[in-house]
Amino acid sequence: MDLSPTPAGWDYAGALAAVKARVHVAEAASGRAGSGVRVLVATKTWDADAAVAVVRAGGVLVGESRMQELDAKGAELTAAGARIHVIGQLQRNKVATAVEWAQCIQTVDSARLAERISRLCVDAGRTMEVMLQVNVSGEESKAGVEPDEALAVASMIASLPALTVTGFMTIGLNSRDENAVREGYARLREIRDQALIRSERGTLPLAQAWELSMGMSQDLEWAVAEGATMVRVGTAVMGSRTAA
Ligand SMILES: *Cc1c(COP(=O)(O)O)cnc(C)c1O
Repeated sequence: MDLSPTPAGWDYAGALAAVKARVHVAEAASGRAGSGVRVLVATKTWDADAAVAVVRAGGVLVGESRMQELDAKGAELTAAGARIHVIGQLQRNKVATAVEWAQCIQTVDSARLAERISRLCVDAGRTMEVMLQVNVSGEESKAGVEPDEALAVASMIASLPALTVTGFMTIGLNSRDENAVREGYARLREIRDQALIRSERGTLPLAQAWELSMGMSQDLEWAVAEGATMVRVGTAVMGSRTAA
């Protein structure tokens, strides 16, 4: 495990404010001013000092990808007041680490994984927020359930003890083609809208699944325009690792 140290003199508060300004402009530009899109800072690959520095600067919502790293940083992040979301693919044999430190696992992509999370949460006497990761770009390399299966899988997960399905997450198409990227984000929003509408009618158990975690440093404006409630930002807040 090779974690990056805090770059000397890096202005976390300034970088975070700049990203929040981008989010506010994007909200306003898409008729969503004041809708409260939250910024999750991807602290993965950064060491505990760097991660704690951004939490102290106001970035309390943080994302970690690798459970070995989370084991190393979890105590310090938690003591600093962070709320930790798992944003990387979670292996079944690493679920215990997530259950120890995370408030939310955004990358649940099967009922089988959810069953294991549920069981360990019941054993630990705690509850867990989960999001269903959906592969909206259709790329084979990407994790996530197929869009057509999302509501069925999410409903199955919602029936498990100790879990609350809070919404849907996707990693967008890695492309500068705005239409193609936004098409994927719109697809995730349609899935979320169906979850809420059908839950209101009593035909699905997903009334709390309103979150849309989508958009990263390079495309957060497009994600906000398509309804993101949370964007996940790494480099734009933490700096670039080569600069360290
Ligand atoms: C690292 C990461 C991000 C942030 O990526 P940047 O391009 O650095 O903003 C967002 N989402 C996930 C799932 C990540 O792993």
